Amino acid sequence: MSDIQKVECLIIGSGPAGYTAAIYAARADMNPVMYQGLQPGGQLTTTNEVENFPGYPDGVTGPEMMMQLQKQAERFETDVRPGFIEKVDFSGSVHKCWADDGTEIHAKTVIISTGASAKYLGLPSEQKYLKMGGGVSACAVCDGFFYKGQETVIVGAGDSACEEAHYLSKLCTKVTMLVRREEFRASKIMEDRVKNTKNIEILYNTETEEVLGDENGVTGVRAVNNQTNETIEIPCTGFFLAIGHKPNTDIFKEYLNLDEVGYIKYEQPGTSRTNVDGVFVAGDAADRVYRQAVTAAGTGCMAALDAERYISALEG
Ligand code: NDP
Repeated sequence: MSDIQKVECLIIGSGPAGYTAAIYAARADMNPVMYQGLQPGGQLTTTNEVENFPGYPDGVTGPEMMMQLQKQAERFETDVRPGFIEKVDFSGSVHKCWADDGTEIHAKTVIISTGASAKYLGLPSEQKYLKMGGGVSACAVCDGFFYKGQETVIVGAGDSACEEAHYLSKLCTKVTMLVRREEFRASKIMEDRVKNTKNIEILYNTETEEVLGDENGVTGVRAVNNQTNETIEIPCTGFFLAIGHKPNTDIFKEYLNLDEVGYIKYEQPGTSRTNVDGVFVAGDAADRVYRQAVTAAGTGCMAALDAERYISALEG
């Protein structure tokens, strides 16, 4: 027998979007319940130092910032629960959600803040330095600054890779772009921008074989030309991935309008509304462009305000 709980506001996911939604919803007396998801704290917990979130003049580590956000949400009595929502039914006016512990939640409003996951190559050496916080990153805007005056390598050839390579080129002495085919996927204008940037070197038909390093972090990359099998070693201290993101929205696809990649579509731009009344989205689950902690927090606030107004309208 499952245990049914009725809640005003269920928040799914615990990144900056989810916690900001929780703070606003809790202060509006909506008694929010949050399921933290498989990666409590979200993507920021894999980041070392966060220096671009306003209000932290000396920077803060990703995990520390997420602990502070959780504390702030709990100060206003958000019910923060470990575990994740594994199934939803948004077909009726009450939104039904099932947690992995068997709890069935009937929510008046749902705020989805499940985020997106950056894709990695999956090489053991890449994962080792990523976990060490020693030179592997999937966000140039977040971490590029730490490689100022140094050499970096970036993998990918889409719009993100071009944008991020260009961003890095302004900070780093040299950026090497590894493109696995002999052409870009990016739009022409973005491709031209990197091609016309002096300190970006583009290596086509080139794939990463191994991320090299020592106890202090990354020292280089061994790459192979997939046409000639020739290998080269490229010295660098930063290894960046820009090979796409996967929004964590699979459980909603039966009910919500998603784009072709899986990002949730806003029903009405400028709001957090989805195509289902009472279901709102915040953060990277609907953002393929900005993907910043501060923009996620902003949309978390919007979602809580929209949810509060939705409930007020229901109650007349
Ligand atoms: P994309 O899916 O467009 O591009 C991914 C890139 O990574 C491709 O070049 C792909 O290569 C490469 N890649 C994928 N897997 C691997 C791998 N295992 N090894 C090496 N390379 C790999 O993702 P983006 O994040 O760039 O963009 C997502 C969407 O967001 C796009 O629609 C894009 O236009 C949009 N966007 C728009 C921006 C803007 O307008 N300012 C900025 C950023 C994104 P291959 O081509 O061989 O498959």
